[in-house]
Amino acid sequence: MLNEHDQDVLLRCRRLGHEVTFGYCRQETGGKPCRLILDCWWEQFDVRAFLHAHLSAEEMAQVARAGASRPPAKVVSLFDLIQQAKDRLKDKP
Ligand code: SF4
Repeated sequence: MLNEHDQDVLLRCRRLGHEVTFGYCRQETGGKPCRLILDCWWEQFDVRAFLHAHLSAEEMAQVARAGASRPPAKVVSLFDLIQQAKDRLKDKP
């Protein structure tokens, strides 16, 4: 089940600086996994095998590519966060 680990907790997110759940990490980038998900969660459970079992081949390839690529510039990350917040507000009734 895709949400099987959603309540698992990591004590400190390296990007946010506080506790996060796997459910957050799994959907952090506009509903898609955070680019660091493989690196952050491998000690908790076999996150690679878990995602491989639940994501399409293309989605899994994106996760692997994102993890291997350089992080986006801070201004791009900030822009993405603002856009994600706007999208969330748009979806609220
Ligand atoms: S996967 Fe991303 S959001 Fe989750 S703990 Fe790691 S850096 Fe933070």
